Amino acid sequence: MFDYLIVGAGFAGSVLAERLACQASKKVLLVEKRNHIGGNAYDCYDDSGVLIHKYGPHIFHTNSADVFDYLSRFTAWRRYEHRVLASVDGQLVPIPINLDTINRLYGTSYTSFTLEEFFRSVAEPRETIRTSEDVVVSRVGRELYEKFFRNYTRKQWGLDPSELDATVTARVPVRTNRDDRYFTDRFQAMPLHGFARMFERMLDHPNIKIMLNTDYREVRDFIPYRSMVYTGPIDEFFDNCYGKLPYRSLDFAFETLPESLHQPVAVVNYPNDHAYTRVTEFKYLTGQEHARTTLVYEYPKADGDPYYPVLNPATAEQYKAYKALADETCNVHFVGRLATYKSYNIDQVVAQALAEFDRITGRRNGTVPKLSTLVSARS
Ligand SMILES: Cc1cc2nc3c(=O)[nH]c(=O)nc-3n(C[C@H](O)[C@H](O)[C@H](O)COP(=O)(O)OP(=O)(O)OC[C@H]3O[C@@H](n4cnc5c(N)ncnc54)[C@H](O)[C@@H]3O)c2cc1C
Repeated sequence: MFDYLIVGAGFAGSVLAERLACQASKKVLLVEKRNHIGGNAYDCYDDSGVLIHKYGPHIFHTNSADVFDYLSRFTAWRRYEHRVLASVDGQLVPIPINLDTINRLYGTSYTSFTLEEFFRSVAEPRETIRTSEDVVVSRVGRELYEKFFRNYTRKQWGLDPSELDATVTARVPVRTNRDDRYFTDRFQAMPLHGFARMFERMLDHPNIKIMLNTDYREVRDFIPYRSMVYTGPIDEFFDNCYGKLPYRSLDFAFETLPESLHQPVAVVNYPNDHAYTRVTEFKYLTGQEHARTTLVYEYPKADGDPYYPVLNPATAEQYKAYKALADETCNVHFVGRLATYKSYNIDQVVAQALAEFDRITGRRNGTVPKLSTLVSARS
């Protein structure tokens, strides 16, 4: 008899498996339908021996010392600060928009003291901020909105920003200084030997059994267990009884080149050209030394693996209905991005899983960071 059947070996399922096995001495069966652990953060070596992220680039960043300390039990880190350039008007300029972005784009010589005045002069104030377009235009004006945000959003979401809820863009990180780091979190680092190795160490415990290539629905009636932790899509758990919750998906096209580095930075965004949104060169993230290099092109699409929840008032209501069912379902804990229909980053999912562990075991030691403190840019 297993104490816990855990569905999904991403961060949510793996953190709970580790905590329950190691801290609460519970016997855990971790069931994963893919042929590997790690969920969407999984990395592996491609045919040329370059370390790639199979489901798109994952960069770890957090403001939580507790989350960082917890993950540090399973990996050493390499310092890494992420940088992104956007291809706009034939130039590669820093994104988030900063002092250099504006001066290079317009051939101006604003300083940190005068740039805010420029933004004020171009901003179009809105009485109510309802859509993603409102968020951006009210901060940086229509021209920058058109150059950097509008077409990128249309590609990414298949919708015009005027049709997207303000919460999707939340805030526009605009800087008046020359800071060109994509994230400003206190802790920014990559697992020294990759994410997959970190997951292997997390799950290496005699109380944890792992079953890959298995949809939990194939085994749930045959395997004796007391409680379940479910980290798959919440709508699927309830047989889509309130309809399918919408997600955006991606196609990843990998390309290996016979040169050691190809782009000037890890990620180049293409807001206005091409069908893909961005191109990532993995060696910047991993620090790997290799004669060849691998890049990935991301093509957004409507169907496929569920990646980004489409958050709007209608889907919030739909999720609420599923959440009510989940609350009534005894002995099942719903955790993670898909089970709680949230666009969470890694650190938020880890914090959510640690908090769930404390709830399950009745611990109230206050070591778990509050999710609301983990405010960060969407990845
Ligand atoms: C393209 C992309 C890029 C991202 N980049 C970043 C980034 O740079 N930094 C960052 O912090 N976050 C990033 N994220 C977010 C990050 O991926 C998530 O926060 C994290 O991986 C979520 O972990 P999870 O365990 O909740 O979900 P997942 O990683 O999705 O794991 C859920 C697992 O459950 C399995 N499963 C589902 N249904 C079943 C079933 N019926 N039976 C068995 N198994 C099942 C799935 O196969 C999957 O492995 C990115 C997300 C995407 C989509």
